[in-house]
Amino acid sequence: MTANFDVSAFLGSDTPDPALAVLGMRPELAVYDPNDERMWVELEPNVWFRPLFFDMTNGSHCEMLRVRRGGVLSRHKHPNVVHGLVLKGRWRYLEHSWIAEQGAYVYEPPGEVHTLTVDDDDEMISFFYIGGPTLYVDEQDNVVSVEDNFQLIDFARKHYEKVGIGADFVDNFIR
Ligand code: FE
Repeated sequence: MTANFDVSAFLGSDTPDPALAVLGMRPELAVYDPNDERMWVELEPNVWFRPLFFDMTNGSHCEMLRVRRGGVLSRHKHPNVVHGLVLKGRWRYLEHSWIAEQGAYVYEPPGEVHTLTVDDDDEMISFFYIGGPTLYVDEQDNVVSVEDNFQLIDFARKHYEKVGIGADFVDNFIR
């Protein structure tokens, strides 16, 4: 970690309970609303994610997703369940008729193919629990790339290194 970067401004975590530490478990985690652009990791043009939690035992993770007007999260599906909650703005899937607005909860069943976009709002921010990898697919639904926790952690590591926070910042979110 770089000397001038104060991790405690971004998250809270206490000393592990000795009874848990002896089992190799890491402590609880509180991730603050950062108000710091450096926290956001770019995935595609106008699409960013912010790590909250990576579960390396079952392959799930929690994230904030931010998409600005015109941004598209490419066509994909998940082999596991996804839960989402819209915190700001609104977005839609090209494959569906409904619009996810601020305050809305969204469930995506495994295997559901969708393409997320923001077309009439400045910016959306949503919380997602993603129960496994994201499988990007082509127009024939063939899987063309796989984005799992290892990939996302690698993206975050490179990003945090580049912006001067230090690659190991992402380790705070790994359990
Ligand atoms: Fe999805």
